[in-house]
Amino acid sequence: MNTSEIKSLFDKYVMSNYTRLPLAIVRGKGNWVWDAEGKKYLDLFPGWGVAGLGHCHPKIVEAVKRQAEKLIHVANNFYIEEQGLFAEKLSTKASGQKCFFANSGAEANEGAIKLARLHCQPRYKIVTLMHSFHGRSFAAITATGQPHYQKGFAPLVPGFSYAEINDFASVEKLVDDETCAVMLEPVQGEGGVYPCEKTFLQKLREMCDRKKMLLIFDEVQTSPCRLGEWFGYQHFGVTPDILTSAKSIAGGMPLGVIMALPEVAASLKPGTHASTFGGNSIGCAAGVAAFEAMEEEDMLGNIRKQGALIDQRMAEIRGKVGGIAQIRRVGFMLGVELEFPGAAVVDDCRENGLLINCTHEKVLRMLPAFNTTADEFNQGFAILTQALKRCRETAGVK
Ligand SMILES: *Cc1c(COP(=O)(O)O)cnc(C)c1O
Repeated sequence: MNTSEIKSLFDKYVMSNYTRLPLAIVRGKGNWVWDAEGKKYLDLFPGWGVAGLGHCHPKIVEAVKRQAEKLIHVANNFYIEEQGLFAEKLSTKASGQKCFFANSGAEANEGAIKLARLHCQPRYKIVTLMHSFHGRSFAAITATGQPHYQKGFAPLVPGFSYAEINDFASVEKLVDDETCAVMLEPVQGEGGVYPCEKTFLQKLREMCDRKKMLLIFDEVQTSPCRLGEWFGYQHFGVTPDILTSAKSIAGGMPLGVIMALPEVAASLKPGTHASTFGGNSIGCAAGVAAFEAMEEEDMLGNIRKQGALIDQRMAEIRGKVGGIAQIRRVGFMLGVELEFPGAAVVDDCRENGLLINCTHEKVLRMLPAFNTTADEFNQGFAILTQALKRCRETAGVK
């Protein structure tokens, strides 16, 4: 099928809740994808960060095929070998946390919020941050500190309030005897790539310990590997009581996870929470394969190495092109804040064979696969430089 044939199916049969690019991606390999007309693109925003190992990594493909032939799904009232092995992988890369498996980031966050309330009952209030993003279920949009995600859905879930990132006093002010948790992304992704400061997280950890509250990290985007450590919290040296992950956790398969320190995890007793598909055999087999590939190919090492190259190249582009207000990078999470709208830059890049994203109108965002090479970055940044030059001229920015 060509793009317009595929598009006509969508016009007729699919709900129109997404703003779609005029593109149908039909094939992918590594950091490259092909559209329905056979045009090739370098993908530095693969699957919104889901394809952390690139598209169709051979180890993931092999694990999915192998598992599909053995057992596709079995219910969670049986012991599931692949789920146990994946939980072991996750726990040993982290700090001995126990796992509950879900299907998505929002579902993991929903479960984390339930677990926090259950563990701390009758306390129920949760402080989150402005400009955060936690997903689209009811508790997750309530936790999300951006009113436009909540508009039209009132009444929301009671008990949430919003502090400012890196402003400990603003959190402290919202905490009272009924507060059970503070929940945040260690680096805000959708909000525009804003990292938390280490001292801010340390102060929150100390306060949560003192008040017997839980610290929850939404690591749906910052783990695994993304920040140059297995989990984002390890980059900051501050361990949360509960963390959630999803996106690239299972090499592209739909899987989310809640990981909690054992004494907190113990509150999730039989009957308190469940997920039919959660921890499904294929997803977990893919997850184990993803972690093996990340280890064998030293993707953490690659992220640390290429990080220096990204900084250097971006500084050059900034000097050459201008119109760049700020560059924010932690590991392979890159935000380039422009002094003019970014949508035209994204379009120009796409027309010239590069896929990137723009969030909050002016922040170009890239979430490259963990195995992206120096050569691929150089190719991508060359296209980006030309696009920035053209769009800056059009926007008339000095
Ligand atoms: C993407 C994202 C979510 C939502 O994940 P879904 O799988 O779309 O539900 C939640 N939190 C963060 C930090 C995210 O980046």
